[in-house]
Amino acid sequence: MRAIQLTAPGTLEQVDVPTPTPGPGEVLLAMGAVGACHSDLHILDAPAGVFPTPMTLGHEIAGTVAEVGPGVTGWAPGDQAAVYGIIGCGRCRACLRGLENQCRTTPVGGIGLSRDGGLAEYVAVPASRLLPIGTLELVQAAPLTDAGLTPYHAIELSRPALRLGTHCVVIGIGGLGHMAVQILVATTAVHVIAVDTSPEALALAARLGAHHVVQAGPDAVEQIRTILGPPPDGADVVLDCVGADATLTTARSVVATGGHLRLVGLAGGTLPIRPTAEDIPPVPFEADTRMPFWGTRAELQEVIALAQAGVLRADVQTFPLEQAPEAYAKLRRGEIHGRAVIVP
Ligand SMILES: [Zn+2]
Ligand SMILES: [Zn+2]
Repeated sequence: MRAIQLTAPGTLEQVDVPTPTPGPGEVLLAMGAVGACHSDLHILDAPAGVFPTPMTLGHEIAGTVAEVGPGVTGWAPGDQAAVYGIIGCGRCRACLRGLENQCRTTPVGGIGLSRDGGLAEYVAVPASRLLPIGTLELVQAAPLTDAGLTPYHAIELSRPALRLGTHCVVIGIGGLGHMAVQILVATTAVHVIAVDTSPEALALAARLGAHHVVQAGPDAVEQIRTILGPPPDGADVVLDCVGADATLTTARSVVATGGHLRLVGLAGGTLPIRPTAEDIPPVPFEADTRMPFWGTRAELQEVIALAQAGVLRADVQTFPLEQAPEAYAKLRRGEIHGRAVIVP
């Protein structure tokens, strides 16, 4: 079968590999759709030894069961499913609480992270990772598993702060951010302020229900402050779906005293926290800062429910498998609006 593999650090190529055989407890999934995630670029850019090579990329996946391995019950060939990408140890304190995204044994273990992912014609995954999707299209189901789940989890962490009529700032209306806007609109009564450098992304945010859109730039903080009023008030929740130095500066400049700042994106920026800071915009007192990671299986089930209710829909741009390297190049150049989805 064809697969897109990380063959060496920085090298992504299409290769021919044997079709996997599902082991005990696993299913063989015929890949229907694979979201291209910024984390894949981090995997590509990582130095040797951090991720296994060769490894098929793709951790945001949905497909059709082709074969079930020994001992699998509840799934049969032809069933369609979304895949929860994390594989926790199942035994640690966090996993026992259902927080496999905080597993204390397996650092960032998962499909397309520590074992072959979905950028191939088939992938073998533990049946326990599958969630039914009903009649959802596979190209819609795949982005739910990360681009949908990650902001949903961040929003869940701030659920008590998302009071009616308060403000939530969403920075970065890309793969995650455009889902965050929809989740906020569908599940809260907050005013959503969307921030992005791209006018197309802001137009998308407005179409999806954002109440205010602000072009990122030198006067972005001032524009957001016009909506929120001066400190120590501000946004009750800020979701930084980019996570660069510039966006984190904006984030801490607009979050309210006692507000929630969620560093969701992995662009590698630094969030300096110290009690007094004259030289930089400080994180306000009592602010709750947190670095969410992906989400839980239970949350993914809820994200799928939102999509099935028709209130969460990824804006997708599709590519055939052989164009996966091109899709990642476009993602790196910032030319993807919404989510790039590869259709093997
Ligand atoms: Zn991802
Ligand atoms: Zn664990």
